[in-house]
Amino acid sequence: MKRAKPIVALDGPVGVGKSSVAAALAQRLGFVYIDTGAMYRAVAWLAMRQGVDPSNQEATAALAGEARIRFEHQDGRLRVWCNDEDVTEAIRTPEVSAATSPVADNPQVRERLVSLQRELGQDGGVVMEGRDIATVVFPDAELPFYLDADPQVRAERRYRQWLAMGKPVTLEETYTGLMERDRRDRTRPIGALKKAERAIVIDTTGLSLNEVVETLYQRVQAWMQNREECL
Ligand code: C5P
Repeated sequence: MKRAKPIVALDGPVGVGKSSVAAALAQRLGFVYIDTGAMYRAVAWLAMRQGVDPSNQEATAALAGEARIRFEHQDGRLRVWCNDEDVTEAIRTPEVSAATSPVADNPQVRERLVSLQRELGQDGGVVMEGRDIATVVFPDAELPFYLDADPQVRAERRYRQWLAMGKPVTLEETYTGLMERDRRDRTRPIGALKKAERAIVIDTTGLSLNEVVETLYQRVQAWMQNREECL
């Protein structure tokens, strides 16, 4: 399918800066930003809210099937809604993060959320961020990016975010937690974190947020210009 505007897929490991990059890039391009991790988090939040064990695959899949998850873009910020409740902050707690792992491992939940993600992104003009966007959700994404960075640098970035949020953690704990999440992300039976063959790899280790956004922005602009010339 030829899209007027591209699907920009942004995959990569935890702490690489995907969310900040995706939000800033989407705003600059006037595209819609879709945070697929937030969708898995919303299902985990719903399970906790309804007293459902997130490891109970059938019950969690049933919740995912009924959940009304949607995004709202307010003043350049993304708000996440689940069943008419604004869960933007609630889905970021350590408890929800822990409950999200079994939810994201659940094949039926993945099937449901991948199908929603395809509905949201199919017309293009989106920056969709996650782990399996260019490998599973949109293998035909016009611009599949894979962001990577040295694990120590990712841990330091994450550590500074936690500090800014007032979380009492050490850099060592942050590093250990990040390595564990990397392992889970890479070994998930379906939708595991993996670089798509066609992906454009950007190593963000020595780059600032603005430099990463600029690099991606130039690639998207080049694609749009090229498309215009071909019309
Ligand atoms: O990116 P974020 O940390 O918000 O993701 C929340 C959880 O959902 C993580 O466990 C991540 O591995 C998982 N996830 C996923 N597939 C995606 C996006 C996130 O399995 N496309």
